Parts: sequence; C-alpha cells; structure tokens
Amino acid sequence: MAGKAVLEKGLGYLVGNGENIKVWTDSWLSPSKLEAPIGPPTLDNQNLLVADLLHPQSNEWDLEKIRLHLPHYEEKIRFLIPSSLKQRNRQVWLPDPSGLYSTKSGYRKIFEEKLIGQPDQFDWKNLVWRLQVPPKIQHFLWSVLHNAIPVGSLLAIRGIQSALNCKRCGELETIPHLFTSCPFAVQFWSKVPLAKIITDPASLAVFSDWFSAQVHRVALPPLGIISSPLAPWLLWNLWTARNKLVFEGKAFLVEDIISKAVAEARAWEDANLGKKKIDGAWQESAKTGGMGWIIKNEEGAVLCRGSSNRIYVGSALIVEALAMRDALKQAKDLLLPSLHIYSDSQVLISTLCEGWDLNEIEGILTDIRNLATLFCPISYSFVPENSQADSLARASLTRLIM
Ligand SMILES: [Zn+2]
Repeated sequence: MAGKAVLEKGLGYLVGNGENIKVWTDSWLSPSKLEAPIGPPTLDNQNLLVADLLHPQSNEWDLEKIRLHLPHYEEKIRFLIPSSLKQRNRQVWLPDPSGLYSTKSGYRKIFEEKLIGQPDQFDWKNLVWRLQVPPKIQHFLWSVLHNAIPVGSLLAIRGIQSALNCKRCGELETIPHLFTSCPFAVQFWSKVPLAKIITDPASLAVFSDWFSAQVHRVALPPLGIISSPLAPWLLWNLWTARNKLVFEGKAFLVEDIISKAVAEARAWEDANLGKKKIDGAWQESAKTGGMGWIIKNEEGAVLCRGSSNRIYVGSALIVEALAMRDALKQAKDLLLPSLHIYSDSQVLISTLCEGWDLNEIEGILTDIRNLATLFCPISYSFVPENSQADSLARASLTRLIM
C-alpha cells in the first residue's frame, strides 16, 4: 500500500466541536481505533454531523438527539469527553484495530518515542524557560548550554592564560568536564537524591542530552521536594562551589553541596508555589469515576476541598484528568495566583509536563492546558501516593454507586 493510502486508512477523528465530522462515514467513535457507527442512516439523518449531537453552548452530548439517531451507540458516545472549549476536531492516526494496540502498549510507545526523541533539537522552552526555578538559575542554565560560563578552556580561547585546568583534578577544565566527567562531578552525581535516569546511555554522550536527562530526574520522596526539578539547583551549586574553590580557596564536600542545593530548592518552593492535591478513583466494572481534590496554601492549610462523580468514564486516566480539570476550575474561582499540582497519575503528569498529545484524554487536556494559563507559575509533580485526595475520590464514588 502506498504511504498516503496507509495514512488514510488509519485516520480518525478526536471530536472537538464536531463540525464537519460526518456521523456515518468518518471514524470518530473511539480515540484508539477506527470506528464509525453502522447505519443504515435514514433519508432525514443521512447528512448528520457530529456537531448536531452536541449542545451548542456547553459542548456536552445532547442525549435526546443521540437517542433519536444513534440509540445503540449512546454508551459508546458518552465515553468520549470533548473539550468544553469547542476546539477544532483533530484528525489523528489511530493505531490498527487488529489488536496490536492496547492502552498500555500505546503509552509505552509514546514514552519510548519521546525519550529517544530528536537529539539535535534542544527544547529550550521546556528545559530552561519553563522550569520551576528562579530566573538567576534559568540564566545560568542557558549560559551553561551556550558555552558562556567562564571555565578554563573558554578563558583560554579568549587569550586569558591563567588557571586553565581543573582545580580539583588538574585536567583541562571544560563545561562537560566540570559538570560530568571530573572525578569530583562523578562522585557528586552518584550521591544526589534523584531517581535513576531511564534513557539510552549512548545518547548521553552529548552534553545537552546529559543535561536534559538530569533535568528530568525525579527527586526522591524523602526529601520533601516533590516539585520539578532538583537538578538545576544541583548544577548551580556545583558551579558556585567551583567558584568558591577557584576564587576563595574554599573546598566543600560533595555531601555539603548537595545539602545546600536541596535546602535552597525547598526554601524557594515553599516561598513561591501554592500546593494542590488531586486524585481520582475509577471502578472498572461500573465504568464510573469519582474525583477528589484538595487545595492547600503554602503553609499546608486547606483552602478548599471537593469531590464529584461521573458515569460513562472509560479509564482511570480519564478520571484523573477530569479531577484535575475540576480542581483547576475551583482554583480559578478562588483566584489563586500560582499552583503546584500533585497527582499520583504518572501518565497524566508526564503528558502535561512534556506537552504531549494523548488521544484518550484529548478534550480534557485542552481544557486543563487552557485553565493552566491562568496561573503563574504552575507546575506538576508526580507523587506515588495521594491518600487524602484518594479517600475523597473513593467517598464520592461510593455515593455515586448508591
Ligand atoms: Zn576535574
């Protein structure tokens, strides 16, 4: 089959405003496989568009119309949750319905593709300018990646002859040497309290690849830093410790530099980011979801908590996304200036942090991203357990089932 034909065979719609999607001939019933309703249509509804099945104001499904035209598909349709913003429909490649695709393998595929990524294109926006760190550290990172900090080798290029070599080991001091290959740096990174990097070691040979991998390492829970990310603070402190050694002759232990980085990161976070916890509970058999969230201020005092529930929810991920959307609406009503969001859904957090698409929750993601623009700064963190919000979510699920 030629490329175009293969492509056309796999194209389906993610419903946004439903305009231009033909109910009977386009694939729009599923975000993961090609599926269109099986007719036959009547003379009256043969030209029906998906937009005709949505309420023009809320963009929620019009159940009366669905029951009139597509009664057998009501359940299926209600599992689709379009954005309330009436965004444009998206035409996407839907994996083959042959069974090769499963939700799990789909996520894995997304993760694999994004991790290997395009090594030449450094993502400045997300790896430097959107990091939740103070501007002085953003500018430091930018300088590091532009070979614009005064290490020995760069001073040599400019004709400055003093102190070209590393004060710690005597080798030529380059940026990769200082931050990665110097024995002191090796020892430093072996002791940092960060989760192991999941990536291809071969791709780490390039300094910018090494750097982006460091930025993505998750701080381990006992630290109390659950915000992204610790690595910039570590790099910054490695640099300031080097300057103290070069200019003042003061040497610090690896452990001391790490403790200082952690303390600074924590203090900055406490001062700058509000806290919010969200969670969802989903019951597979009943396909129902309960959403719970808690909003706290920096001191940990509860500002607001809430829960809700919904029927026709296709997965736990959808519940988590709906919970986040609800919580953001609440935070908007509270006029909170900034937010730090914690969720125990790693897929959702990664999707938001990386700016990925995920067909299954396309519409809700659009709403979340739109609401997120109201807060500055806003950041997202994965926490393995979210027990308070979790019990709220379960409580609302119980009420829904009763
Ligand atoms: Zn060295």
